[in-house]
Amino acid sequence: MSSASTSSAAAVAHTCGLGKQQRRRLAAFDFDHTIVSQNTDTVVRDLLPSHLIGSSALTDLMENDCWTQYMSEVFRLLHVQQVTESRIRDVIRCIPEVPGFVRLIKHLHKKLNFDLIIISDSNSIFIDEWLRAHNLLDCFTGIFTNPAEFSPTGQLLVRPHHQQTDCKLSASNLCKGRVLEHFVIEQDLRYNIRYDHVFYVGDGNNDICPVLRQRACDFACARQGFAMEKHLIKNHNKLRLRANLLIWRSGFELLDQMCMLPQLQGPPIGSQSMCLDVNCKAEIGRRASAVAGPADRQQ
Ligand SMILES: [Mg+2]
Ligand SMILES: [Zn+2]
Repeated sequence: MSSASTSSAAAVAHTCGLGKQQRRRLAAFDFDHTIVSQNTDTVVRDLLPSHLIGSSALTDLMENDCWTQYMSEVFRLLHVQQVTESRIRDVIRCIPEVPGFVRLIKHLHKKLNFDLIIISDSNSIFIDEWLRAHNLLDCFTGIFTNPAEFSPTGQLLVRPHHQQTDCKLSASNLCKGRVLEHFVIEQDLRYNIRYDHVFYVGDGNNDICPVLRQRACDFACARQGFAMEKHLIKNHNKLRLRANLLIWRSGFELLDQMCMLPQLQGPPIGSQSMCLDVNCKAEIGRRASAVAGPADRQQ
């Protein structure tokens, strides 16, 4: 999905709400190790012979602050090695989901009426390929990542999503916090959409920046045992995270936790019509009394 088609799709989807404020919910997802169970870039890089992966020319670039420069060189070497576009697309499609994420995404989109976006340091070709293969592309309002394309000779070309030096928590080619903030502001200004709750779902160190910008009514959803969770817990006092912290091990578990939240019981304030899934309602009813912890800190 190109950014142009994404924004035009969003425009069509929201035309009916113009002039009247809509209150909605947003879930923003990282991609690698959050939706898919591996790192798309390293899966493709590993199609290279190991002596090239370990070469100093490549490892020196890895030290660099800009990940897309490293991957550009990987893609150049793959082209030299005559690794084809179809081979690259094949390995991407075959990466398994993190258990439960296909279901989580479909449920949030179809049953709970969430807006969904992806903010990832992978690239548009990989994300598009995987989502299309899993019938998920239509679930997303926007995909914010490094733009990529295959050249006429079959070399994958990738460019930085943006260039930034303001945020020290983020790489120069992608500040996920800035992307998330811009998306929320743009939805308000262009389509009169306000998000009562924003969920940010991730696993890595580059997912710290966006959750530190979240509000007290939002949810930082960190994968258990991964860098994001470890960093947030270790530096809990210093970071002053305002958002509620949800720790998850699978998409199934995260969906269960979300369904238990009192904040997701019923439609967003001021929304005209929103169908809450019957199963989800039942789940809330069954477990409401057991809810404790993050939800209780809600303001
Ligand atoms: Mg990740
Ligand atoms: Zn940042």
